[in-house]
Amino acid sequence: MRMSWSVGPISALVTRSALAKPATRLYPVERRTPYARTRGHIEFRIDDCNFCTICAHKCPTLAIQVHKQDKTWAIDHSRCILCGICVEDCREGCITLSPLPCPPMRAKEVLSFRQEHEAPTVKVAAPAIER
Ligand code: SF4
Ligand code: SF4
Repeated sequence: MRMSWSVGPISALVTRSALAKPATRLYPVERRTPYARTRGHIEFRIDDCNFCTICAHKCPTLAIQVHKQDKTWAIDHSRCILCGICVEDCREGCITLSPLPCPPMRAKEVLSFRQEHEAPTVKVAAPAIER
């Protein structure tokens, strides 16, 4: 049984594909605007963190590590499932859910933060000079 070919639909398809815009973007140079409520990646602001470790204990995938003594907070983005529990449970508002995707990484890496606040120092006033 011989099949009959029609050139018309194929040439129309080729022409349409040749004239259409590319179906992909030149990421990361060209980025898509995120949809409302897109869960992109976790962002952290260390300034107000009191290292209570609640976020680390509540995280279901153990993506967060907190060391109170060292004043460090770390996240392994490859473990994070973007559930948002840490965002809801941080009483200090240090953790937010960004709609933008995680920045590209060449290797699996843990992002660490260290709080550099100096402990308040007590200044002793110099004794007044008597004349
Ligand atoms: S980020 Fe929030 S919940 Fe986590 S240790 Fe800091 S203050 Fe506590
Ligand atoms: S969003 Fe969920 S999985 Fe990701 S770090 Fe927070 S608690 Fe863990």
